Amino acid sequence: MIEQEMDFENRIVSPEYNYNEDEAELSLRPKTLDEYIGQDKVKDNLRIYIKAALGRHESLDHVLLYGPPGLGKTTLSGIIAKEMGVNLRVTSGPAIEKQGDLVAILTSLNEGDVLFIDEIHRLSRNVEEILYPAMEDFSLDIILGKGPSARSIRLDVPRFTLVGATTRSGQLTAPLRDRFGVLLRLELYTPEDLAKIIMRSAGILGIKIEPDGALEIASRSRGTPRIANRLLKRVRDIAQVEYSGDITEEVARAALARFEIDELGLDDFDRKMLVTIINNYSGGPVGLDTLAAAVGEEAVTIEDVYEPYLMQIGFLARTARGRCVTDLAYEHLGIEKNGRSSAQQSIF
Ligand code: ADP
Repeated sequence: MIEQEMDFENRIVSPEYNYNEDEAELSLRPKTLDEYIGQDKVKDNLRIYIKAALGRHESLDHVLLYGPPGLGKTTLSGIIAKEMGVNLRVTSGPAIEKQGDLVAILTSLNEGDVLFIDEIHRLSRNVEEILYPAMEDFSLDIILGKGPSARSIRLDVPRFTLVGATTRSGQLTAPLRDRFGVLLRLELYTPEDLAKIIMRSAGILGIKIEPDGALEIASRSRGTPRIANRLLKRVRDIAQVEYSGDITEEVARAALARFEIDELGLDDFDRKMLVTIINNYSGGPVGLDTLAAAVGEEAVTIEDVYEPYLMQIGFLARTARGRCVTDLAYEHLGIEKNGRSSAQQSIF
């Protein structure tokens, strides 16, 4: 059994927002669809819907964006507002605690505004109920008072566009999901697209980088722009202090090795999870909850944050009976199937 404490919060390759690492994000956010790199299907769809809505002088239909963290959902909501020529209001499911909070937000919007609700699956049922008539008829049903003297009033709100973001559309209740006219799934990015994002960010931040250096960072960024930007800044620090300042392929490689991020972007946590499945459960299948307990992480975090990339690169398979480590992963870790190799012992 592996009893190693891991610092999940400060994991460099975590795709979740981290204030210390990602505070420059605002300046790196693309402002228009043309600046937004990759996700061609999503962009093509949005272009059509935006053009059609503008042509009809209407607000855009409600949009649900889903996909793992760090892929550009918040960024897209800003782009939608900008392309529609309206204001953006940003909030999140957990931040809207009471019905009154949502009423206050909705009644303060201007006609056509975009309301972005991140982690929309975390809205409470109470609050969700207010949202249904607001999304459908742009009205609110508010109950005033309590008991026999309570009365209900109907209040109109401006026609707005709700952009909801969630890591999985399956986490949403059916009535909420059904009220979105546009459902868009964001995919993990290819290393080539991530390299373009890195080159663009380097330009904005004044970092000198060679295309090969960008590709090296890109291929270890787990398909995620947030991680790509974060690694770029970390590698820049090492390039500045220990090399001539420019990020070449060699510098990128040396810096990333220092952070213990391997050629595929796997870090200690990924290796620990895969090795736990191999050692404790003979490579799987193992149920998600059992695995979560064994590695000391929440099941939903494993499912939303860690697994998508491991599945994308074919290291982990999800079967009806649980998670299984694939032959490819054994090979990458240097572990022989049905036997222990020296590499396996030396990982921890
Ligand atoms: P999410 O809301 O999905 O967690 P964000 O929209 O906050 O992700 O994006 C994280 C970071 O990645 C932002 O700083 C943004 O600059 C960058 N980013 C995301 N998508 C793209 C893209 N398609 N092109 C360029 N940069 C991107």
